[in-house]
Amino acid sequence: MIKPIVGRGSPRALAACDDCGREEIVPCDYLARRGGTAEPNEGQVVKKLGSRGWVKSSGNLRCSLCAARGRALVQAREGKVIMTAKDVVKEVAAETLQPTPKQERLIILALENAYDDQAKRYRGCQTDKTVAEELGGAIRAGWVADLRARYFGPDGGNEEIEAIRASIGSLKSDFDKGILELRGEYCAAADALAKRLDAVCIAVGPRAGKVAS
Ligand SMILES: [Zn+2]
Repeated sequence: MIKPIVGRGSPRALAACDDCGREEIVPCDYLARRGGTAEPNEGQVVKKLGSRGWVKSSGNLRCSLCAARGRALVQAREGKVIMTAKDVVKEVAAETLQPTPKQERLIILALENAYDDQAKRYRGCQTDKTVAEELGGAIRAGWVADLRARYFGPDGGNEEIEAIRASIGSLKSDFDKGILELRGEYCAAADALAKRLDAVCIAVGPRAGKVAS
């Protein structure tokens, strides 16, 4: 449920979980309704809540915990993993965890070195995952991917991938060339043998049979 907050200060709304009643305050715009009353921009509120793990489905607004619990129940019903309350809390924490400003700065700094702006891909063997692993400190590859996409460029692979692709290409053309050369050598050798055979047949006379070529 989304309710307007009346009073001074910046415009806000109060969101309450329809399952457990948990409440959160969300800054939002107000839209004018007929009759002069203004109501919170519900779409905007739901969108902002979404980034905090809240879900609105079939008319019900659920907090991140209740939404995760709902997903766990569905998984359990479908015979997939059965989650304990602890798992649910962990999953919610994982889904709603955001990098701190300090972590964001570290990621951006690492991307300056790891990402090739001109080639629009990573340098060397770097990927979102290796950047996250090098930074350590609970930094997630997903955060690196977000910041990379926002400030640097697309996930265009890396130098290593490009180099391997190029090697595969030259290996194929080398192979084709090699096959042609080999064919020439074998044909020449077969021709030489045929000539020798002819020479022997001619020396032995008609009883040796036909001339080979
Ligand atoms: Zn709830």
